[in-house]
This record gives sequence, structure tokens and C-alpha cells, in this order.
Amino acid sequence: MRDFPALPYPWQQTAWQRLGAQLEQRQMPHALMLAGPQGIGKRHLAQALVQRMFCVAPASGTACGKCRVCDLLKAGSHPDFIELEPEEPGKAIRIDEVRALTQTLAQTAQQGGYKAVIIDPAEAMNVNAANALLKPLEEPAANTLLILISHSPSIVMPTIRSRCQIHLLPLPSADQVLSWLSPLVTGRGMSPEQLLSASGGAPLKALALLDGDALEWRQQLQDGLLQLTEERISAIALAGQWLNADVTLTLEWLLAWAHDLARWRVGASSAVMDTLPEGIQERLRHISLSVLHRYLEKLLSIKKQLLSGANPNKQLLLEEVLLDWGLVLRRRAGAVAS
Ligand SMILES: [Zn+2]
Repeated sequence: MRDFPALPYPWQQTAWQRLGAQLEQRQMPHALMLAGPQGIGKRHLAQALVQRMFCVAPASGTACGKCRVCDLLKAGSHPDFIELEPEEPGKAIRIDEVRALTQTLAQTAQQGGYKAVIIDPAEAMNVNAANALLKPLEEPAANTLLILISHSPSIVMPTIRSRCQIHLLPLPSADQVLSWLSPLVTGRGMSPEQLLSASGGAPLKALALLDGDALEWRQQLQDGLLQLTEERISAIALAGQWLNADVTLTLEWLLAWAHDLARWRVGASSAVMDTLPEGIQERLRHISLSVLHRYLEKLLSIKKQLLSGANPNKQLLLEEVLLDWGLVLRRRAGAVAS
């Protein structure tokens, strides 16, 4: 765990108080699902909850950070706390890992207290892996908490979902994000508003944009897309260029960019769109909103497929979304849809 003890983010106070009350009143179910958009800190909240639950002397609602149990958690070596995630982002969680997990859960806690598991994200379990998790969900051992993280609860198997108490965590308001983000990004070359806009409103994604090559990479993506918009490059050539990066991240960027465009088209200000060259803005102003919304839906459905572990031909997938962008540009507002 990176920061210890983990404190909930400012926008998580309501959820934190609700979970804390459940813990104190001994009404914690054996399975929780923390569901909401990516980049809002669901995993962080889950870790904070596990720390508070395990700590032998929690103070003011958080782990003390000093006891023996806290030391084990801090070192990542507590034998009764397991975090399960895909080996690489976008890959599936393997069935043998879920099986190993259920075996561990069936044993008595080594430290004599609680056992806890975080699965992040739940939708990365395919049908077989999810089925392997049904037993501990249906017949939970005492003092065990399973926390499933989900960015897209609708694609998690209903048999899994229905056995969890679901906590929906919404995207925080722009004001909440900006007041948290502003002191962290001072003097880093991009305004908090630009970062917020480029991240689709997800605070941790906004912060991650400042890391390493992320800014330059996103600038390259936008430059490529603008070249395509001005027909200075073909969709197929651009797909070839984009093939070098993680296709899920690229699609997420495109989705956030197109969302931003849709909001800008109906009059919202956008730190990204407002700074584009006038010629490009003029083109984007004439896109049909209904066509743009259909494009967004399509991007979202492709993203869901990728998150659920689908492994399509990346070149073809990128070609398709970029050729579709060309169609969006040609279908002007006011033109008769065919
Ligand atoms: Zn402690």
C-alpha cells in the first residue's frame, strides 16, 4: 500500500461514513461492490476500509498506523489480506488465481482476526473465474470481507453482482476535483481545468496525466486526431501509429476527448476545445450531435468489451474507430440522416 494509513479522498466522505457506521454497528456484509467510474479512487477507499477493519486500535475512524497489524499491512505482508488484479491492465483475472483465493478463504485467518480480499476490477473475471468465486460468496466464512471493485457493474455476472451489497460511487463534482487538484499541479505546465477536462472529470486520472510521458503521449494522440480531422493523414496510417500504445488507454483518451467535444458543442467551456485552432473548431462545430452521441456509445461499448478481457485485432479496431470518426465529421448537423 502506497500511503499508510490510507485516508479517503475528500469526495469520498459520505461513502466513508456509511461504511464506517456499518463496521461499527457490526453490520458489514460479507461482500461489497464499490462501483463507479475509473479514476475516482475506489481501490483506495477499499484499502482504507480494510486497514480500519484490521487495525487493533483505530483512531478517529482510521487505522492507527503503529500497531503490529498495521505494520504487516504497510509492508504488504499481512497473510489474511489478498488483492487480486489482472497481471496487466486490460487482461483477464485467471481462474486458477480465483481458485487459490477461495482455498485461502476457506482456511482460518492466520492472524486470528479478519480476512479480506479486494478484486479489482470484478469485470476482469471471465465466466469461469467468476463461477469459481460463487462458493465463498454463497457460503461465506465468518469474519471475511470480499470487496469487488467495478468500473462497469452492468457487465459483471448478475450471479456475482446480486450477492454483493453495492455502493455506487459517482464522479465527484468539478468543484470538488479542482479544489483537491489545484494545489497538486501548481507550476506543472497544465491548468487543473485542462487536466480535469482531459480526464473526463476523474481526479486520479487527471493527476496521472502529469506523470512521465503521459502528457506528451496525449498531445501526440490529439495531434494525430486533428491531422485526421483535417484529412492530412488517413485513418489506416493513423491506426498504425496508435498501435504502439496500449489500445485501452488510447480508447479511453478518445472517449474522454469526444465527451468533452459533446459538452463543448452544447455550450460548455472546455480547456481542450477552446484552445484548438479556429479552423478545427469551425469543423467540430458542424458535427451532428446525434451522430456524435452514437459514436460515443460505440466507443463506450468497445471499451467495455476490452475491460471484460476481450482480445480483438488492435489494428482493425483502431482503424474502425478512426474511419468512424471520419464519418462523424462528414455527417454535418442539419444534413438528412440516412
Ligand atoms: Zn493499527
